[in-house]
Amino acid sequence: MPLTSPDHKGIIANGRLMASALYPLLTNQALKLHSVLRAASRAENAAFPTFITLELPVPAADGAHGQGALGRLARFFNGRGAPAKTDYLRFINTLPSGATLALAGPEPLESPHFQAVLFQADARSLDVEISTCGRRLDECAPVIYGLGVARVRLSIFGPESVHNDVVGSSRSFKDAVRGSLALAGLRDSTTRPSLVVDLRPVPASFGRFEEMVECALVIGADLVIMHYPMLQGSPSPADAASCADELSRLRRRYRTAPLRFFPDLAGGDAERFILGDMLSVGPARCSHPWRGVRVDTDGKITICDSYAIGDLRTDSLESVYNCEAARSLRRNIKRGLLPGCQKCVGRFQSEDALR
Ligand code: SF4
Repeated sequence: MPLTSPDHKGIIANGRLMASALYPLLTNQALKLHSVLRAASRAENAAFPTFITLELPVPAADGAHGQGALGRLARFFNGRGAPAKTDYLRFINTLPSGATLALAGPEPLESPHFQAVLFQADARSLDVEISTCGRRLDECAPVIYGLGVARVRLSIFGPESVHNDVVGSSRSFKDAVRGSLALAGLRDSTTRPSLVVDLRPVPASFGRFEEMVECALVIGADLVIMHYPMLQGSPSPADAASCADELSRLRRRYRTAPLRFFPDLAGGDAERFILGDMLSVGPARCSHPWRGVRVDTDGKITICDSYAIGDLRTDSLESVYNCEAARSLRRNIKRGLLPGCQKCVGRFQSEDALR
């Protein structure tokens, strides 16, 4: 049979389709394996990061990086502003296909760069996840689905009134629910984007955790993650104990549901974490600076908490990820946890555990 026959053309087209679906998956796994091995070896030079968080700026009337008059004034006095769209596009162009690009920030769906960044990430075959509190999710659902976003992470802070208070918009909860249902409708029998609901309770939602989990399951979450709260100010041990009790009741009640806890602590460890005594619990080592990188809304590139190693506008990720500042930080972390670890959950975070 000649290679140009319709049968052969069909076989070749199917082969190409399979290869294009498998390639990002295999690249992603290979990158992760490489970075895990480097992190385990604790060498000062890390493999190229597999998890890149990009905090997108939003227009704000009074924010230092906003587009309003005060924002412009702040930029004038600081001598710098938020990165431009071209800075983001250039940065994304340098990321290896298969890496995970997490879009975050005050609210990435409201960023003027959101769609351009998403198109560029799609062109680079990046594995994209979007963290949102749900505002504009309904409106953005078609583009999120159309560009093959891998994951949408929806943060819910409590039942409707509590969530709206935290987000500062009376429609926010309804938008989040409508957006989730719109995504589920578009997705139909495909698997992308998966919906991960991050439950982040605040004191006003204590006693109502079960209601939050039920809501997440009803809107079609593929995975629900209950984040342990950390009490602020001078919390009482009794409050921490009652919160930890509520969390263990949830564990018993939803044994078979797709519900996970972060950090995955129980008993006295959970209480200590909730009280803010984080250094006494969890892993004594952190591999985050070997595996991830974050770009703040002002363009600062950081590998650990707020420790800047470069700037998106002037540096390439490749040139700064193993610069002297980054290597010296890794040297210090190898000796033990830093004071900044007291308030950081980075060391609890395994790249795959939460997705
Ligand atoms: S502050 Fe500590 S826990 Fe957080 S990323 Fe840095 S080393 Fe890890």
